[in-house]
Amino acid sequence: METVTLSAGTPEETRDAVTEAVTLLNKGSIVALPTETVYGLAANAFNAEACTAIFEAKERPSFDPLIVHVSGKKMLDSIVNIPPDIEETVDILIREFWPGPLTMVLPKKNIIPDIVTAGLQTVAVRRSKNPIFSEIIKELDLPLAAPSANIFGSMSPTSATAVHTELSNRIPLIIDGGACSDGVESTIIRIESTERPKPNFHLLRPGPVTVEMLKKFGKILRGQDSQSENERPNSPGQLASHYSPRTPLRIVNCPENFKADPSKSYALLSYRGQEKDGYLSIHDWKEIQILSPGSGKLPEAAVRFFFSLRKLDESGADEIIAEPIPGKGVGLAILDRLQRAAL
Ligand code: AMP
Ligand code: MG
Repeated sequence: METVTLSAGTPEETRDAVTEAVTLLNKGSIVALPTETVYGLAANAFNAEACTAIFEAKERPSFDPLIVHVSGKKMLDSIVNIPPDIEETVDILIREFWPGPLTMVLPKKNIIPDIVTAGLQTVAVRRSKNPIFSEIIKELDLPLAAPSANIFGSMSPTSATAVHTELSNRIPLIIDGGACSDGVESTIIRIESTERPKPNFHLLRPGPVTVEMLKKFGKILRGQDSQSENERPNSPGQLASHYSPRTPLRIVNCPENFKADPSKSYALLSYRGQEKDGYLSIHDWKEIQILSPGSGKLPEAAVRFFFSLRKLDESGADEIIAEPIPGKGVGLAILDRLQRAAL
């Protein structure tokens, strides 16, 4: 299958791209679309066959549930049953963070096919703030299942070019909406009501809606605290090894003390990127990518993360050496992806 890329730069191009995407999605096809987090591979979430095509194109195991995108509260209510004890919290989170990169896991209605949720009785839902994605879902007026547009286990794509590298000849259409503005996958939470005034938020995946932003509205539980036994295998976004380049990646706490094996070549993923720290020139790196070269710091590092990782992977180095990222704000999400890439 030949993959066509349609640019959505000018208003005219965007109009044509939206029309083409809606036409294909209506026919039960899969289409790669930009979101604010990473590019998604979208299909009509009510169409089990179309959703099966997502799993096939991505080589995604059937136990890994898809995230479903909605256009607003009305569409949300058509696919989930919000338990009364968390209804107020869901309303608050929607008001605060939608449209935006917050995914909530909620009890699903039967209208969502089992393949979408890997047989779970819950579905993960979000509303994208990307204007092209929003236009498409509004015009289509159907929920869209849309996991990241990459081969399972590989790095998420944050540009149309990266989608092409991952999925060319497997999908008919890529809509090119430029670089993703957030750069890492959405935050995923499950909400649990408590006796206390504040609910519990089980953080299933850290993302651009940060712990600091969420904690005003609920108590954040992470890791072992956050998951029941049977929830863990159902959340492969949390599989130990994921988001991986083909080149082995090692996190080195102090790159300035890194000892190279003379028979190997190395590429460097630097967070700080400052020459005064000394490590940019201690070694003849095959390629250097600096995550935060401007003053943007962590949000800038998030936007550049997967793009930089791809560049290093393509450099031909034997190993990627990565400097850790401060685990606060969106840094927690980047560090999470980096640690999984290292396994
Ligand atoms: P992505 O590849 O970005 O679409 O990520 C999808 C991830 O969302 C999955 O790998 C899971 O970790 C998570 N997820 C989706 N649906 C559910 C659900 N019903 N319960 C828990 N986690 C979910
Ligand atoms: Mg993914």
